[in-house]
Amino acid sequence: MEICSLPIHRVHDLLASGQLSAVEVLSAYLQRIETVDLRLNAYISTLSDRAMEEAQLFDSGKRDFTSSPIAGVPLGIKDVICVNGTRTTCGSRILENFIPPYDAHVTERLKEAGGILVGKTNMDEFAMGSSTENSAFGPSRNPWDTDRVPGGSSGGSAAAVAAGLCAGALGTDTGGSIRQPASFCGVVGLKPTYGRVSRFGLVAFASSLDQIGPITRDVEDAAIMLQVTAGYDRRDSTSVNLPVPDYRAALGEPIQGLRLGIPKEYFIEGTAPEVDTAVRKAIETCRELGAELVEVSLPHTEYGIAAYYIIAPAEASSNLARYDGVKYGLRAGGSKDLIEMYRRTRSQGFGAEVKRRIMLGTYVLSAGYYDAYYRKASQVRTLIRQDFLDAFQKCDALLAPVSPVAAFKIGEKSDDPLQMYLSDVFTLPASLAGVPGISVPCGFTPDNLPVGLQILGPHFQEDLVLRIAHQFEQATPFHLQCPKID
Ligand code: GLN
Repeated sequence: MEICSLPIHRVHDLLASGQLSAVEVLSAYLQRIETVDLRLNAYISTLSDRAMEEAQLFDSGKRDFTSSPIAGVPLGIKDVICVNGTRTTCGSRILENFIPPYDAHVTERLKEAGGILVGKTNMDEFAMGSSTENSAFGPSRNPWDTDRVPGGSSGGSAAAVAAGLCAGALGTDTGGSIRQPASFCGVVGLKPTYGRVSRFGLVAFASSLDQIGPITRDVEDAAIMLQVTAGYDRRDSTSVNLPVPDYRAALGEPIQGLRLGIPKEYFIEGTAPEVDTAVRKAIETCRELGAELVEVSLPHTEYGIAAYYIIAPAEASSNLARYDGVKYGLRAGGSKDLIEMYRRTRSQGFGAEVKRRIMLGTYVLSAGYYDAYYRKASQVRTLIRQDFLDAFQKCDALLAPVSPVAAFKIGEKSDDPLQMYLSDVFTLPASLAGVPGISVPCGFTPDNLPVGLQILGPHFQEDLVLRIAHQFEQATPFHLQCPKID
């Protein structure tokens, strides 16, 4: 476990100083995956052979550890992101055998920087869910308590990082899918600003919301992975052409004198007391570190769930129209005509939650309902965005819980979609507004389940969000804890 419990920057130090070879490091992870992942199901596929070839390039001197801070480091990547020549399932039967013929932008970036991809991580089907129970390949389990979910939809990435099955991973966040699993698994998860990281080669769920970001053991690693992946890419029309700051350089600056907003709508009845206690303690820690706390209001927060669960399914219903048995993946046999082939393929290929979203989305976009639902939801979204812009006039960043509960039991919410949707209450608004947010470990419940603190910042101020998270992390012991899964 020794190597496998280290953050990226420490693994990289060992490689760069010659204390360990790339093959030694990779072998430690692969061995651990073989024993531990039987229990966690964090990976849908592992890429051992190719990873080993990559590692050997370093050890034979053909590649150089000093070229980047992830060079030679084993990483996981969510199975919704294309890796050339490697099965990319999106957690769905319909793409069970889909092998993309190209790399996503972020995949290219990781490869160019010398990251070694060890596997494709498990996820809710097409990233729809908050628990990873909607995966067609079985749920992932939380390494802190294997009867519980790791969160979702990037649950496989979070579980893999927490359990030491990779040094860091990429996830995606449409409405909380990086931040919430990070908080459930006691690791760091950063959702960048919408437009910061190119989605070229990310299989689309809700295109006006989807973002790719890192899930890591500590905040410095999140800065490293964002650095490697961020920046303009003409192949994603929403990619923003702004300079990428040096994220690691900003981490060391104290937070003394920063104004941190406490949004009153995020401290409500219904949050579990053990979560509330941990988050309030974390806020107090920030005050002790010299930050000034200011109460702020984001008055349209309560409409976030309703707006999100119209907008995201609407976009999904359109994006998922491409899975018709002709262009990608599964095609159901035995049909007498084209329409029957479409119907059978989609009936057999999609799981229950995906079908529910397609139906919801098609309904809210249909003539006669569009104005009442989709248009209204888009207007509410503008108000939610404005709430954040107003709040950031009064403070530099916001502190809040990530989720009203810690990791719940497998099966506890899976029969009740509404309960599952409601648990996203604290992550959806930032997604609708497009602002960056991070989850950083801030405590444990009496059952020894991790709790995350959410830090939200203004558009494109990931450097500020990372700095606050790093200063908090370095003043607290929570990120040093590891689950006892061996
Ligand atoms: N839980 C939310 C949903 O089910 C968010 C998922 C995500 O961010 N991908 O849509």
